[in-house]
Amino acid sequence: MSVSTLRWVVKKVARRAMVLGSFVSGSLGLRRLFGRGPVVRVLTYHRFGEADRDPWCVSAADFEAQMRWLSEQQLAVSLDDIERFVRGERDLPDGAVLVTMDDGFSSVLNIAAPIMQRHGIPSVAYVTTGFVGGISASGEPYLTWDEVKRLPASGVTVGSHAHTHRSMAQIGSEASLDEARRSKALLEQHLGAPVLSFAYPFGMRPDESPATATMLTGCGYSTVFIAQHGTLRRGAPTARLPRVKVEGGEPLWMFKLLCRGGMDAWKLFDDTLWKLQRPAVSEQL
Ligand SMILES: [Zn+2]
Repeated sequence: MSVSTLRWVVKKVARRAMVLGSFVSGSLGLRRLFGRGPVVRVLTYHRFGEADRDPWCVSAADFEAQMRWLSEQQLAVSLDDIERFVRGERDLPDGAVLVTMDDGFSSVLNIAAPIMQRHGIPSVAYVTTGFVGGISASGEPYLTWDEVKRLPASGVTVGSHAHTHRSMAQIGSEASLDEARRSKALLEQHLGAPVLSFAYPFGMRPDESPATATMLTGCGYSTVFIAQHGTLRRGAPTARLPRVKVEGGEPLWMFKLLCRGGMDAWKLFDDTLWKLQRPAVSEQL
């Protein structure tokens, strides 16, 4: 068994153990009974299509089943809903979910968007502007500018995922400011509309800081998302909003539990063991 296969198996076992553990322990039910108001979640996807043992890629069939379930449960909400919820300007049902997709792969438009349209699911695509029109290391094309422009008509809000997909907190204040401004200006120029949301490249502990959060807010981003796990409640800081990663190759029951809080405790890993996760994060591109 290769190292990458072993890591795949270990990670999958750990995710399933956590999801099942939280279910069996009853913590999901207790949270609903004793929690402080409604909890909502933001899901993170990356690519869509057929890829064996690639946690970053969700198959069209799995995604269709997930979106159908979200639609049946009436759980899907928009970025605007989430922003107004955390700002205390509107209510959302407990367990509401926003779909987001990072990096700006062409499969966002070609595979995910039609599925979401069929089921009436709003979403956000975080596009890395320097990648537009290019091909990833894994061989999948990124969106072209023409395709980026077609996203809003498909119900997909466009946000920034920086210009070169580097760690914002690691490249210095001048370079990170340039990433934030350049990506926003390029997207707004091509879309002809304001771009008000940002998702950090990588988005783990070493990749974001209070200084980058302040800088991004100053650039005009009204919501900023990290990649670390967590839930959102009313009053959550809009410049540091956690999400929950959806991985490829996982059954629908796991997705349902994940939407109900089965991965919330993964926050402990993100908060305390992020140094160990670092090698896996660098595999993203
Ligand atoms: Zn990314």
